Amino acid sequence: MSFQDFGLAATVLQGIEAMGYTEPTPIQARAIPEILGGRDLMGSAQTGTGKTAAFALPILSRLAEGGRGGGCRCLVLEPTRELAAQVDVAFRDYGRHMDLKVALIQGGVGFGGQREQIQAGPDVIVATPGRLLDFLEQGEISLKDVQFLVLDEVDRMLDMGFLPQVRRIVEKCPKQRQTLFFSATLPPEIATMTQWVLKDPVVVEIGATRTPAETVTHALYPVAKDQKFDLLLAILEQTSFQSCIIFTSTKVAADQIAGQLHRLKHAVVALHSNRSQAERVEALEGFKSGKYEVLVATDIAARGLDIAGVSHVINYDVPGHPEDYVHRIGRTGRAQSSGDAFTIFTAEEVDTVRSIERFISAKIPRKKLEGFPYLYTALFNEQSLAPGGPGKGVRTMSGYSFGSRRRR
Ligand code: AMP
Repeated sequence: MSFQDFGLAATVLQGIEAMGYTEPTPIQARAIPEILGGRDLMGSAQTGTGKTAAFALPILSRLAEGGRGGGCRCLVLEPTRELAAQVDVAFRDYGRHMDLKVALIQGGVGFGGQREQIQAGPDVIVATPGRLLDFLEQGEISLKDVQFLVLDEVDRMLDMGFLPQVRRIVEKCPKQRQTLFFSATLPPEIATMTQWVLKDPVVVEIGATRTPAETVTHALYPVAKDQKFDLLLAILEQTSFQSCIIFTSTKVAADQIAGQLHRLKHAVVALHSNRSQAERVEALEGFKSGKYEVLVATDIAARGLDIAGVSHVINYDVPGHPEDYVHRIGRTGRAQSSGDAFTIFTAEEVDTVRSIERFISAKIPRKKLEGFPYLYTALFNEQSLAPGGPGKGVRTMSGYSFGSRRRR
């Protein structure tokens, strides 16, 4: 199966070629023909599966056939600014050989630049719900020409309390439209929503959303509570990582850890929702470019963010929602490269760990870091605690490289 087989517009095929994609990923192979055929779609796919292109390429192809003009024909809603920015870039990349205008409408930045983008008459709007509603309520944007509506990461929109806003936005779109709906999980609120938002959708499920990406090696590191930070440092010391994301459950913890690592001369930055939009962009860009080797983040960064070359993920806390575990560790091992994920856990978190293991239907191996001066914790009485370095899969030429924090 190749991209040529779908009957995509020539300009879109040129865009795909420029991206260097040679063959469609499984979700692309399943979804592109259905979307080109005009069907509504409900998709659940793991992050890193090529989901964005799965909806962007056929939409762009249909837009290319229609020619320009006639208002905004495609609206994509995303839960976070970072995801919106990423999808905006994807549309621009894939549509680089088309006559296409894309507008990015997101909160946290001034209205002026976005107003200009709207006045330029975009074909595609990629937006977060709050800011889009502001413009809609001011009468500055009309959705009456929307033919394609994409609701992405709907379960995350639910978590963030956006569903009422999403509903109001959908009500402003024409009834006659094609709707593409993506959600990794289907809690009852979302199942109800699919019934009024979608018409006879084709369901595309790629891989079990409960399964962490196969390219990720993951393990649990039990430790006494007082030694969490020391263990984190020891793991960083013993791991030869290219770039590492450390997840924490709270913004305060993210700032504290970033501060401590900074004092220890790590190139580190924090990313969470209390930081300004400019700081968030700087953090992500700096992490992607290699200025920062370590990103300390709350779950805002766990979903869908496409950061290439993240070699390691460390969960400083066990995530409270099992799905977040899968999403967090999915930040590494993306797009065919492999990665390692470590989860530090303490006795208080045993139940949460069990619910994650039930969710992914697998027992996560317990490991002890060699040479670390462990204090006793009752967790060590659990069976199957393997001694070892910081996880297998740490890829260095000569085993583990101690003390090396350099990018390779
Ligand atoms: P996504 O799941 O949309 O976040 O995509 C994950 C990554 O895979 C992104 O970096 C895409 O650029 C990349 N990607 C998407 N489709 C393909 C493809 N057919 N071949 C190679 N890489 C792809």
